[in-house]
Amino acid sequence: MPELSHGAHRIYGEAAFEVLAKAQELEREGKSILHFEIGEPDMETPENIAQAGIQAIQNKKTHYTPSIGILELRRAVQDEIEITRGFRPDFKQIVVTPGLKPGIFFSMLATVNQGDEVIYPDPGYPTYGSVTSFLGAKGIMVPLLEENEFRMDPNDVKERITRKTKLVIVNSPQNPTGSVMTEGELEEIAEIAEKNDIFIVSDEIYSKMTYQTKHFTPTAKDKAKQRTILLDGFSKYYAMTGWRLGYMICPVEMAERIQDLLVSAVSCTAAFTQWAGIEALKGDQSFIPKMMHRFREKRDKIVNGLNSISGFSCLMPNGAFYAFPNIIETGMTSQECADYILKNAGVACLPGTAFGPYGEGYLRFSYATTLEKIDEAIERIKKAFK
Ligand code: PMP
Repeated sequence: MPELSHGAHRIYGEAAFEVLAKAQELEREGKSILHFEIGEPDMETPENIAQAGIQAIQNKKTHYTPSIGILELRRAVQDEIEITRGFRPDFKQIVVTPGLKPGIFFSMLATVNQGDEVIYPDPGYPTYGSVTSFLGAKGIMVPLLEENEFRMDPNDVKERITRKTKLVIVNSPQNPTGSVMTEGELEEIAEIAEKNDIFIVSDEIYSKMTYQTKHFTPTAKDKAKQRTILLDGFSKYYAMTGWRLGYMICPVEMAERIQDLLVSAVSCTAAFTQWAGIEALKGDQSFIPKMMHRFREKRDKIVNGLNSISGFSCLMPNGAFYAFPNIIETGMTSQECADYILKNAGVACLPGTAFGPYGEGYLRFSYATTLEKIDEAIERIKKAFK
């Protein structure tokens, strides 16, 4: 085989999928495994949304659509942003994408050059670092500290800005820690970006998944007209991971460039998926509070359970569906501890280091599972540590 590109060697995958493969191998050998590694809701897509998708297929919505997305869905997103973020974006700022992830990829392709610096949270979602590395840019990590409830500190962002900084990535509610940033912190980061003339990508995939505090966006300051890019999608709070549907709100000139990136890469997002998305935004919303009520019970159970295991201590997360316990007192590294738990308790979770070097000393549990399985996992881990 001829030599692959430098970028192909620099891009990397996600540990969640590797751990899932390892756990499934153990299952094939007959071992019982409880799964806490994969970040997706354990509910099915609400029936009204699924039916809208089926109906769309029956109505022959099975052809190409405009790359930027169908008019009706972009109008629905325009209303949605006005209601949830308090500003009404211009129609031309709205781009539909096949999942939120392409929004990360394409907005970074459209803003970052080789040699630029990209600031992102650590521990943080692995895609930020992977795409930074793919582009030949330099990743500058902002440690998220337990002392600060894992929120990104604007002063830490400020300290890391150089002449080469092009982009800051913000993610609240956050994966993997479940932290939720305050309005003041996000405003401060928006001000820092304005002062230094840099872009902000705000990954808001968990925007409707907070427990006690409200969700805020750093894009409210410039209404995503100058330098901020709001990314959100349907995967998590409408339980639509497999449908592949997301959207971005960004400056008009950038939306036009992203449109051509989409033309070149995927042509468009699946037509019937987009029609289902309209029903998601405009139809009955009662699914979300019901889901969050159940997640809250699961969160309380897993956090209390983890805190009862010797050597573990876990903060109460404010959003998403992840618990991020500190395991330093076990005397193991994150990787050793995750491997030990998988082997001796049959519980699959992720080492904090799957999200960057500052994840050392922590594990991530996705608690999108049943209360019974949470109880059983805690019992099994306790026993393995006795
Ligand atoms: N951003 C974050 C922070 C996530 O946790 C995830 C899903 N694990 C995504 C983006 C990906 O979203 P999607 O499936 O819509 O591409």
